[in-house]
Amino acid sequence: RLVSIDGVIHRPEEARVSVYDRGFLYGDSVFETIRTYGGEPFALEEHLVRLERSAERIAIALPIPRDDLGREVVALLRAATAAGSAGATAGSAGAPGSASAGSPAAPLESYIRVMLTRGSGPLGLDPSLAGAPLRVILVEPLKPLPGALYRGGISAITIRTQRAGDAAPGAKVSNYLESLLALRDARAAGAHEALILDPSGHVVEGTTSNVFLVERRPAAHEGAEDPGHLLITPPKEAGILVGITRAHVMHVASEVGMPVCCEPVTMARLLAAEEVFITSSLREIVPVVRVDAHTIGAGVPGPKTRALHAAFRKRVGAGAIP
Ligand code: PLP
Repeated sequence: RLVSIDGVIHRPEEARVSVYDRGFLYGDSVFETIRTYGGEPFALEEHLVRLERSAERIAIALPIPRDDLGREVVALLRAATAAGSAGATAGSAGAPGSASAGSPAAPLESYIRVMLTRGSGPLGLDPSLAGAPLRVILVEPLKPLPGALYRGGISAITIRTQRAGDAAPGAKVSNYLESLLALRDARAAGAHEALILDPSGHVVEGTTSNVFLVERRPAAHEGAEDPGHLLITPPKEAGILVGITRAHVMHVASEVGMPVCCEPVTMARLLAAEEVFITSSLREIVPVVRVDAHTIGAGVPGPKTRALHAAFRKRVGAGAIP
């Protein structure tokens, strides 16, 4: 694990930021979560473009050019890897090397968090009190989701609350308090994720994920390779964080001939779907087999979700679904 603060690399126990930093005081910051495949950051440019847009959205200027920030991410990753502390052997997070007995070592994979705050200054909400923006990058071993959750699916609750980033739709701002409380409710109910409903009762996204439905529409979309199925996901206009995994999944779907529609998702529509899944950079594609007290489809991960996940894994250069 290593930390980079304004381009200077530190060991985590030595990394320090000011208590007057506005990220700490007011959640006045934006961030990105990235993972590696084969030791390389996946979709780094897309994440940095989104970071820059998020920052613009709340009027923070990137303190260094985007390309230089990308170089800092890679330099930190290389330093952490060289220090032998960046990654856990795939599938054995927290126990580096423990899976290597008798089998070739799997690539080391890392979790990368890039944060940009408005910086520090005297107390007071006025953004003009801030000095220069602060950038912090964290690299640590990736802890993959247990394979059982891909094989068996997860349950989710629905909750009517605000989304992370409601104050600046589309921006990945650091204030996740509403989402954090929704996730706490989900965990208390034995569920893995909370799906957020907007004031009109539409399903928008998960606390840290986007949501997809697989629907059967026999008569529609003649000519598609798989005319019977459609992939539905809430549109940008719903105020979602436009996920990078969401974009890759949409691409993969079109490659396998499954039409994708960005449409509003009511509760009734969600519960009637043949399959439901969530997507995020760290979790990829996770089947949802239960929502509140309702079973989705057959109550097991569906074939379309599995096929899309397998195609996604191929696209990112990863092996079989864990
Ligand atoms: N929606 C929200 C609110 C998120 O926080 C995240 C990721 O953290 C996502 C969606 C998924 O985005 P991505 O696929 O870019 O990780």
